[in-house]
Amino acid sequence: MAVNEDVRAELDFLVALRRDLHAHPELGFEEERTSQIVAEHLTETGMKVHRGLGGTGVVGTLTVGNGPRTIGLRADMDALAMPETADRPYKSTVPGKMHACGHDGHTTLLLGAARELARTRNFSGTVHFIFQPAEEGRGGAKRMVEDGLFELFPCDAVYGLHNMPGLDTDEMAVVAGPQLASSDSWQVRFRGVGTHGAKPHLGKDPVTAGGHFLASLQTIVGRVVDPLQPAVVSACSVQAGDPKALNVIPDFIDIAGTARAYTLRVRDQLEEEIGRLANGVAAMFGIEAEYRFIRRIPPVVNDADATARALAAAQAVCGDKVRTDFPPSTAGDDFAFFSQDVPGAYVWLGNGPAVDGALHHNTAYDFNDGAIGTGVKFWTTLVEQELAA
Ligand SMILES: [Zn+2]
Ligand SMILES: [Zn+2]
Repeated sequence: MAVNEDVRAELDFLVALRRDLHAHPELGFEEERTSQIVAEHLTETGMKVHRGLGGTGVVGTLTVGNGPRTIGLRADMDALAMPETADRPYKSTVPGKMHACGHDGHTTLLLGAARELARTRNFSGTVHFIFQPAEEGRGGAKRMVEDGLFELFPCDAVYGLHNMPGLDTDEMAVVAGPQLASSDSWQVRFRGVGTHGAKPHLGKDPVTAGGHFLASLQTIVGRVVDPLQPAVVSACSVQAGDPKALNVIPDFIDIAGTARAYTLRVRDQLEEEIGRLANGVAAMFGIEAEYRFIRRIPPVVNDADATARALAAAQAVCGDKVRTDFPPSTAGDDFAFFSQDVPGAYVWLGNGPAVDGALHHNTAYDFNDGAIGTGVKFWTTLVEQELAA
């Protein structure tokens, strides 16, 4: 009975911790309170704790026995700049910020696993518990890598986990290959010569060039990229002229958007083809094109060996409720900066039914505390199997 009481007490502790984090969301690189809590709990277990990588990043290191293998487990800590609309006892206390992606849950799961593994010590090797800042588009993983994450904490494999609405809380999805798309931005400025709207022949109209560019943009995905390779190119911003000056042809038009791919080759192709199209259209109209492609996040592509190890752990925890045919997401995750340097696997943990706003980045989203038990068990099992004594 004592064992069951311990398990229940630990679960209560983790639920309270998760709700406290939920009530105090912090944006990327501002996770002062969260990283302080993480560091305190890690220190309490007796493990070595390193702070400051990527600003607010925290790494806890637990070595047991003399096993030579070392693995990294990653949780993200940041919230989003958006209001929380749902009423709940632990609703965000910070206006305009909320944990709408469940990173409060990810932080809790990894802390729970760190506490458990530091107690049970049923493995031989080294685990780095990596708590990263700023996953939501602010570049936290990249900063940690640039700050020397893998020089200070070399890893033979690295693992990431994200909650997923639509899967049960005792269900996981573990799939080899592409999991999340690359997420890059691009900008085109067509620079013409502004003139009177009634005298277009005296200038060079960039707006018409912009129209041709937009009309041709989808031929990149439709006609150039291999039809069996997923890719997305979207123009998301168009700015030119002034609606209060309808007799003025402006000097330039700015068009910008996003590009997504699941392989490095298609990513390169999108970068090249958008630029080619921009320059070709500019040449056609005798104007200039300025083109920038901003590489933000590479695709997350699961390594076969790391995926097999993660799958074995997930099956040990969830039995036959592990999906191996789950579709990839067109979202991105900067876990890619970890898994492009070290063999990695990124897995999905169920968050319950995807109903009534229960979708990532919705103002009513909430991590499901019912998944804490499954998530912690997955991490601890992965370590015990990966670093078997
Ligand atoms: Zn998110
Ligand atoms: Zn997320």
